[in-house]
Amino acid sequence: MMTPRNRMFLAAAIVLLLALVPQVAGNFTVSLLNDVGIGALVALGLVLFTGIGGATSFGQAAFVGIAAYASAWLTTTQGMSPWIGLVFALALTGLSALAIGMLTLRLGGHFLSLSTIAWGLSIAMLFGNVEALGRHTGLSNIPPLRIAGWSLAEPRAIYYLIWGLVGLAFLFSRNLLSSRPGRAIRGLRGGATLLASVGADAYRVRLTLFVTAALFAGLAGWLYAHMNRFVSPSPFDVRASIEYLLMAVAGGLGQLVGALVGAALVLMLKNGLQDVLPLLTQRAGQLEAVAFAAAFILLLHFARGGLMGFVRRWTRGRWAARPAAAPAQPVTPLPQRTLPARGTPILSVKGAVKRFGGLVAVNEVSFDVNAGEIMGLIGPNGAGKSTMFNLLTCTMPMTSGQVRFMDRDIAGLPQREVARLGLARTFQHVKLRPHMSLLDNVALGAYARTGAGVLKAGLRLDRAEEQQVLQEAQRQLDRIGLGDRSHEMAGSLPLGTQRILEIARALAADPVLLVLDEPAAGLRRKEKMALGELLRKLQGEGVTILIVEHDMDFVMKLVDRLVVMNFGSKLVEGVPAVVRADERVQAAYLGSVV
Ligand code: ADP
Ligand code: MG
Repeated sequence: MMTPRNRMFLAAAIVLLLALVPQVAGNFTVSLLNDVGIGALVALGLVLFTGIGGATSFGQAAFVGIAAYASAWLTTTQGMSPWIGLVFALALTGLSALAIGMLTLRLGGHFLSLSTIAWGLSIAMLFGNVEALGRHTGLSNIPPLRIAGWSLAEPRAIYYLIWGLVGLAFLFSRNLLSSRPGRAIRGLRGGATLLASVGADAYRVRLTLFVTAALFAGLAGWLYAHMNRFVSPSPFDVRASIEYLLMAVAGGLGQLVGALVGAALVLMLKNGLQDVLPLLTQRAGQLEAVAFAAAFILLLHFARGGLMGFVRRWTRGRWAARPAAAPAQPVTPLPQRTLPARGTPILSVKGAVKRFGGLVAVNEVSFDVNAGEIMGLIGPNGAGKSTMFNLLTCTMPMTSGQVRFMDRDIAGLPQREVARLGLARTFQHVKLRPHMSLLDNVALGAYARTGAGVLKAGLRLDRAEEQQVLQEAQRQLDRIGLGDRSHEMAGSLPLGTQRILEIARALAADPVLLVLDEPAAGLRRKEKMALGELLRKLQGEGVTILIVEHDMDFVMKLVDRLVVMNFGSKLVEGVPAVVRADERVQAAYLGSVV
């Protein structure tokens, strides 16, 4: 890994180089670099939304267009200053993104991508048909930018503004990714349930990300309009959107620098093709589209990681950013809940019923969990344990019955609200972010205990809170015995250790009750023993645990009390010795394929 000092030198060298270019390079190169900078801004938004957030947008050029047209219209027909144009352009782009996002982001998956094509097409069409926007001829005579009486009409002059803004957008994005909202953004690919389990709303996280990406595109559009001083519909159509997407993919979707590298790559390729193709054929325009399509397919086949993916492999990760670390000096800890006194009931299930059509998966089940105990919920395969788990974590609505948690009726609450009340869970199929460090994965668990949003994080105004979160994450890692591996990537851990890491993430939420779904499934004997020891240690520290498990031996040695389910109903409730001796339990387990 590069040392922070080396990184500083590298960054300074790049900045210096970029600052010198206009002094030595010709007009053509400077103009090309201006286009690269504008493309990089849009691609940066796509790296965030598509590369990191995991949803594809085929309509990003429409946002560039909205901003470009907004500022062009305001400055030409209303005679206002381009700086007012900037505010207007960003406001309009942000609001459009908010509206489009609210209409489409719940669609998810392929439908979401398809809808981006739909609005991408229709917005571009709009530009070509509105009289006030000059229809297909567009708007011309857009005024150039001026800063303190100094005109930026020359490519050499606007170059500095463009690259200054690219630099700021880059820093903003980098800050964002290593922050509270950034961890949620990186958690999006783990699914809505993962985010809900830490008290976050995946839809809102994605919507904020969508608007942020659109604002980057808007900034690019504003620059575009005042640099070219002419706008027409075609640079903002779906073909342009695909070009932006290609930039993000070519550079490497997973990394912010990829946006820069990709924009340079694609625009240079495009320029090269425009020089070469006319020599070969008279239909250069069409052939260019074909060449781009071919490049896209080749990329997807052979280099999904983009150019930066190659760089990373060549340098064997030495150029990778160092993951966040806990503060060296202790900071004020995050505030903690006052836990209920040992023995008070904290969770109480009464007459829970869940029907799937004709099948009654959970049938009139009632039980309590008291503070400080380890309670087990066991039963053979298909007994209804997972369904019960989903009911009491509010992952799934109940058909009838009642669940009270911390003196509140929680049936029907969204899962993230229940999580915020202090019910933390782990997953039967581990949901960790493999490319995030152990520390970051655990820090995600503290989401609901903190409040920094995108703006605060991007401007780095969240540092004090962030230090508290990282210290808390480190404390939880120490607690489960993984403290000295906090920099490693979660994906490199064996399954048993990943399960334990999920427990640390749940603990980072400062829960009242920890609910574990089949934590021993797929573990080897030694791993099971380690897990059992950890849970007992946590109990000693005052954590209340409800464990839903299939493995009877594992549970019997661990729990204070347990409930046995069979065919959806509660069979027995009691201490392990009584349950073990019960004939009905033996029959239920013998009768099933364990
Ligand atoms: P366990 O976790 O104890 O193995 P489950 O709660 O997963 O049992 O399942 C209980 C019963 O409910 C099973 O018969 C299962 O097929 C059925 N079931 C579970 N989830 C659904 C669902 N989403 N739709 C229909 N049936 C389901
Ligand atoms: Mg199950």
